[in-house]
Amino acid sequence: MSHYAFHERGKDVTLEADFVVVGSGAGGATAAAALARGGARVVVVESGAWRDPPDYPSTTYGTMRDLFDDWGSTFTRGRAFWPIVQARTVGGTTVINSAIAVRTPGDIFQQWEREHGVGGDAFATAMWTYQDELETELSVELVPERAKGRSNLLASDADAALKFGGHVMKRYVKGCEGNGQCLQGCKALKKQSTNLNFIPEVMALGGDIVSCAPVKRVLFEGKGAVGVEGSFAHPLTRARGGKFTVRAKKAVIVAASATHSPALLERSGVKSKALGKYFRAHPGTGIFGCYDEPVDMNIGATQGWASTQFRTDPGLKLETLAIPPEMVASRLAGGGTQLMEHVREYRHLAMWVHACRAESVGTVKNGFGDKPVVHYQLDEKDMLRFRDGMSLVARMHFAAGAKAIIPGIHGMPYKLGPDEVKLLESAPLDPRAYVAVLSHLFGGCVMGSDPSRSVVDANGRVHGYEGLVVADASAIPTNLGVNPQHTIMSLARYFANQLLS
Ligand SMILES: Cc1cc2nc3c(=O)[nH]c(=O)nc-3n(C[C@H](O)[C@H](O)[C@H](O)COP(=O)(O)OP(=O)(O)OC[C@H]3O[C@@H](n4cnc5c(N)ncnc54)[C@H](O)[C@@H]3O)c2cc1C
Ligand code: SF4
Repeated sequence: MSHYAFHERGKDVTLEADFVVVGSGAGGATAAAALARGGARVVVVESGAWRDPPDYPSTTYGTMRDLFDDWGSTFTRGRAFWPIVQARTVGGTTVINSAIAVRTPGDIFQQWEREHGVGGDAFATAMWTYQDELETELSVELVPERAKGRSNLLASDADAALKFGGHVMKRYVKGCEGNGQCLQGCKALKKQSTNLNFIPEVMALGGDIVSCAPVKRVLFEGKGAVGVEGSFAHPLTRARGGKFTVRAKKAVIVAASATHSPALLERSGVKSKALGKYFRAHPGTGIFGCYDEPVDMNIGATQGWASTQFRTDPGLKLETLAIPPEMVASRLAGGGTQLMEHVREYRHLAMWVHACRAESVGTVKNGFGDKPVVHYQLDEKDMLRFRDGMSLVARMHFAAGAKAIIPGIHGMPYKLGPDEVKLLESAPLDPRAYVAVLSHLFGGCVMGSDPSRSVVDANGRVHGYEGLVVADASAIPTNLGVNPQHTIMSLARYFANQLLS
């Protein structure tokens, strides 16, 4: 077991394994651990650097520099430029996410079977069994009372008044201290990101991890994948270092995320009509509620309350969310003394969000410098859903006693009072009027039985190739309407176990 970090030019690394896994996030780390548990020799190759929790950043700037993929500079190309947030570090996006664990809803497996020829009852049973296991292994817990914080408690009050069917969240967190720092990485070691469990487990079982190592291409002999190669990239300067090559005797597992996996397969020469297609997301945005008493949203779990009552109609999820103070400031209008006036209100703000279960589809292509290019925008039906989400969140704030809300919609007043909430029903349907973020991503290498409409089969194997599997969010053929990590991890474990059987 070794960790190979950045190597200078001229110092090349060549390794051999049964399986090489590209990416160490939700999908990659889970697949790697399953394979290592099965007795295989596994090498995980990760584009980002290894960061120990004491070295996690505290600020938004540090998070973008050390943990975000490309400093958070990937945007949707379409009517609006909405940021696509993912991590680039050992542990992938599980290091920066809120660790919310939601089981795959049963209707999703039925939809996959109906529309994509995969899924069905037996598949659902296997996936839920893996979700049971993951909940135990990763200590899924309800946000503890002491860590709820006032923002989450206010949301529960609103829910009680409006009957929005909400609940306290379950997360992969062992004893949350409520430091509200999930985005910067949990320095308290409570969040169970994969750099703390599955990756060390792979190493303990004899596997290697190669970090600062963006894979340039998958290597083939005929139609069989036999390894990967690339050059090390310095964790800060991104300067190119020595070359790395990992040969795989049994299979290459690609788990580089919904944006990077299709881009990697494209530049590796994989031919598939569906490659890079059917990209989907849950675009989300938030509304601040302004309260008389201090809320101190950054005291308490980053996210603690949610409602899935609107998952099918109109198609969205409601959640609380604490963002770092600098991000709050960036969302308040004005500059100079006006901005300072707005920031003075910081302690009295609560942010609650909606994640839209959008049906619009986009594409992912490999771009200059191997950066994925994502074309994606919401159609009118999705924008109506998105706007409905704004009204629901606003109603919650007023039900919880907010004296005003800050909707953050271009062309609308900075603040709206309780009597003005109806104005949101005629808010713009132009996506450019909203500050939205894409953090739940799906597709690009979708699973299905028809090779003309899918990239991988029901076992994650790329149609028409040998020894090439995709085990991450890119294989998911639809949106979910719930947070995706649980689905991604159980899918990755399922695909890995199929390789062992
Ligand atoms: C801020 C935020 C909060 C979120 N909160 C939640 C939540 O609470 N619950 C939930 O269910 N979901 C949440 N999500 C979504 C969830 O984290 C992701 O859906 C999930 O991590 C995706 O898993 P993945 O394996 O597809 O990709 P990732 O976890 O992103 O892992 C992909 C890895 O591959 C690496 N990689 C990319 N290209 C290459 C290459 N060429 N060579 C080598 N390595 C490469 C990347 O650096 C990365 O480490 C959140 C996302 C964000 C951004
Ligand atoms: S809220 Fe704080 S203690 Fe709890 S998981 Fe997130 S970072 Fe860790």
